[in-house]
Amino acid sequence: MIKKKVLLDEEEIPKQWYCILPDLPKPLPPLIEPAKRAPGPGIVPLIFPKEIIAQEMSEERWIDIPEEVKEVYRIWRPTPLFRAIGMEKTLKTPAKIYYKYEGVSPPGSHKPNTAVAQAYYNMKEGKERLATETGAGQWGSALAFGCMYFDLGCTVYMVRVSYNQKPYRRVMMEAWNAKVYASPSIKTEAGRKILAEDPENSGSLGIAISEAVEDALTHEEANYSIGSVFNHVLTHQTVIGQEAKKQLELIGEYPDVIIGCIGGGSSFSGLFWPFYYDKVSGKAPKDTRFVATEATACPSITKGEYMYDHGDTARLTPLVKMHTLGHDFIPPPIHSGGLRYHGIAPTLSILYREKMLETRAYNQVEVFNAAKVFLESEGIIPAPEPSHAIKGAIDEALRCKETGEEKVILFLLCGHGHFDMQAFDDYLQGKLLPYEYPEEEVQKAMKKLRTLYPWLETLPY
Ligand SMILES: *Cc1c(COP(=O)(O)O)cnc(C)c1O
Repeated sequence: MIKKKVLLDEEEIPKQWYCILPDLPKPLPPLIEPAKRAPGPGIVPLIFPKEIIAQEMSEERWIDIPEEVKEVYRIWRPTPLFRAIGMEKTLKTPAKIYYKYEGVSPPGSHKPNTAVAQAYYNMKEGKERLATETGAGQWGSALAFGCMYFDLGCTVYMVRVSYNQKPYRRVMMEAWNAKVYASPSIKTEAGRKILAEDPENSGSLGIAISEAVEDALTHEEANYSIGSVFNHVLTHQTVIGQEAKKQLELIGEYPDVIIGCIGGGSSFSGLFWPFYYDKVSGKAPKDTRFVATEATACPSITKGEYMYDHGDTARLTPLVKMHTLGHDFIPPPIHSGGLRYHGIAPTLSILYREKMLETRAYNQVEVFNAAKVFLESEGIIPAPEPSHAIKGAIDEALRCKETGEEKVILFLLCGHGHFDMQAFDDYLQGKLLPYEYPEEEVQKAMKKLRTLYPWLETLPY
């Protein structure tokens, strides 16, 4: 009988996180302060605890996970690894498909892996409250959950269109004691300015980040917390890949290809970094390929430029070198597939440029079609975001069917879709349309960025 799932014991929760920085093919370009036109951390030291900043620049590969953090992890970790037997049958593929499932956490995604750690370090350094942004509500609910465990207040600026469309994510945050505001809000200078110009503004992650950062900057008792993109966030997610490696080892498997979706890049990095480490340290039994999937409606890596840009719309953050669509990016309202951030993790951007990463972009109709194949054969209703990874895995499995290869495919199911029923309803009623973000819009945004900082091209990084 083929094993359906591989489970680990509690004591097999990883003891350390893996940081990729010492193993990158090139060092990360420094942050740039636009006022100085030179490297500098900008506001970063003012809004993050010291331990997080140390992890952000860590020269150590392995970072010990505090006991207090592991204690909370034990509620849902280790997470199960499934063999997609049902989907293999449906697709009639000779490939073996495995998925690591992070939807078993109380907030329903991989995000508490870092939320709990960030709340812990802020509590240790005497902060009383964290401010953050959230789009679909996954990150806000994970941070609300983490803050509750360490008695921290939690203020969430939720992108207005999601605030209105996903009331139950907001209630989930409030149940875990968070205070939630629709963004842009009148709470901050950044929000008031945008509302004055455009009272109907539907919000974006870039705007909500500006509001949360401003809140932290203007309140001594508060810090800021982010759910993706930053090195320390991706590092915290590596519990996923370390567990998956152990689980596959138990059944004598090693992946030929690893697939994940990318918004900012944290969940996928959490899965593949430990396998990347195998590769660069000469321990990998196979030349594993890493495939990142994104939305054609928000194609940060496949259409975005590798440029210094701000992480937020109000330009409060220092400039970060990354693949970006421009900090003014507002996702098209018809897009239901998640993955809406304008940039992508600097680490992933480098790996992509060094050709160590493959990418695919899918439109929302193909993504929901893939979700339907998956939920019919595997039962679990996936979030729209990991449905991009499912589409990638299906394509890979179908290629194996043509060539007859028995490849081992591993993908990340980073969350369930229980709060995404409106999107599924629209899909089932045939209301979803394919959408591609136009190339001209990217060009426009890049031109604006170059006009804003004409000296950008002269930087030596
Ligand atoms: C936040 C989120 C994402 C996108 O963020 P990454 O940092 O790229 O992982 C994807 N899937 C789910 C379920 C999320 O909650």
